[in-house]
Amino acid sequence: MEPATSAALLDKLSHEIQDFFDNPTSVSPTVTAAELRQHLSRFTFDQPLEAETVFDEVRQMMRAWNVQISHPRYFGLFNPAPTRPAIVADALTAVYNPQMAAWSHAPAANEIERHTLHHVARKLGLPTETVAANFTSGGSEANHTAVLVALAHHFPQTLEDGLFALSKRPAVYVSELAHNSFDKIVKHVGLGLGALRPVPVDASLRMDVAALKTLLKADEQAGLEPFLVVGTAGVTSTGTIDPLPELAEICRTNGLWFHVDAAWAGAAAFSETLKPALRGIESADSVTVDAHKWFNLTMGAGMFFTPHQESVRAAFNVRADYMPASEADVAVPYLTTLQWSRRFTGLKLFMTLAELGDEAVAAMLDHQAELGHYCRKCLSDNGWIVVNETPLPVVNFTHPAIRSGAVSVETILEKVYAGGDLWISSVTLRGEKAFRFCVTNYKSTTADVDVLMRALNSFVG
Ligand SMILES: *Cc1c(COP(=O)(O)O)cnc(C)c1O
Repeated sequence: MEPATSAALLDKLSHEIQDFFDNPTSVSPTVTAAELRQHLSRFTFDQPLEAETVFDEVRQMMRAWNVQISHPRYFGLFNPAPTRPAIVADALTAVYNPQMAAWSHAPAANEIERHTLHHVARKLGLPTETVAANFTSGGSEANHTAVLVALAHHFPQTLEDGLFALSKRPAVYVSELAHNSFDKIVKHVGLGLGALRPVPVDASLRMDVAALKTLLKADEQAGLEPFLVVGTAGVTSTGTIDPLPELAEICRTNGLWFHVDAAWAGAAAFSETLKPALRGIESADSVTVDAHKWFNLTMGAGMFFTPHQESVRAAFNVRADYMPASEADVAVPYLTTLQWSRRFTGLKLFMTLAELGDEAVAAMLDHQAELGHYCRKCLSDNGWIVVNETPLPVVNFTHPAIRSGAVSVETILEKVYAGGDLWISSVTLRGEKAFRFCVTNYKSTTADVDVLMRALNSFVG
């Protein structure tokens, strides 16, 4: 029998939620796999331990040996500091553990998700009367869904006969800076890496529209069959946004599916200031938005949207006689999405939106965008060189001392990490290594950016 949950354990849990939320420990750990394995070897599982002891052990390991992405000076990858409602929602999800696969097993949970997804769809400017939408584990699954639905839409014969039904190889067009989840996806769906056609970016690091047109023509002549163009809104390395209206137009005139991967930047649709940067997203055939990125929720929570309900049904419909009968009038998750058993992922977005309201969500985004501008200004005031251009808080930068070879990006990064209370990363752009700074925490302040600037200045001498 399971022991009763003690009041002391619940106290510990609620204290830790609050304490870590207010005060995440140092940003980057120094620990090796060997040290961790040695530490874990005392858990032999041959004797039961007190729940509170286990709790304390886990707490200690997670605090000491984890990159604390919730820290205000983690200026890192698209990993947010989660909101408090999101943390509560994850706990509630575990308590009720609804099975979302069949609508009839979890009517409340399914309709909470639908209600939330429709709100986001409205913000994106997608037609809510016809939109099909679902939560995913993240952006990768949402992008994977987009490719499957686009294939079902353009090549319905493949649903029965697979890619063997086709005489020409279908081709997918992405910016050369697109997220590498597409490399995995074309392998998974059987198209193969050769079907993924990277399009060069222009001087502003956005997909080059003229180059796309040229490549489409050349590929058609070479016997490929273009069917899908992916525009990225918020490139992972640079935060740049492909020219969505132009891409939408090319797709319309050429009969191609237009997918927008807005995994990170999709949340900008909630901000009146940032929203214009997403113009064109409303004409997409499908959209990816991660809820666990700029909506500041716990992992894993992505979203997929498309106005093509019929193609979604075609892509995912199956017969399973052990499943409960479907109601008319509702989208049944196991028949319209990649997953079968399904976690109540949407609750954390519902609770965050409900508790904060649209305006506070927008304010969180605007604050982070402004910190990005502040960082750009500090950098140029201090002789650093910003090499990307975006209204969003991703800043790529270098320094004359790096360009002259006096010091390297790698050496500086080592020093940054060694301090333990700062985190930035690096990217390679146009063959040149540069730093990547990104605001991922709505609680970060200008004082946190100042700490980073002082450290960086001291490392270039
Ligand atoms: C993060 C990211 C993805 C992948 O999303 P996951 O949630 O990590 O699966 C896809 N596209 C872009 C642009 C991203 O930034």
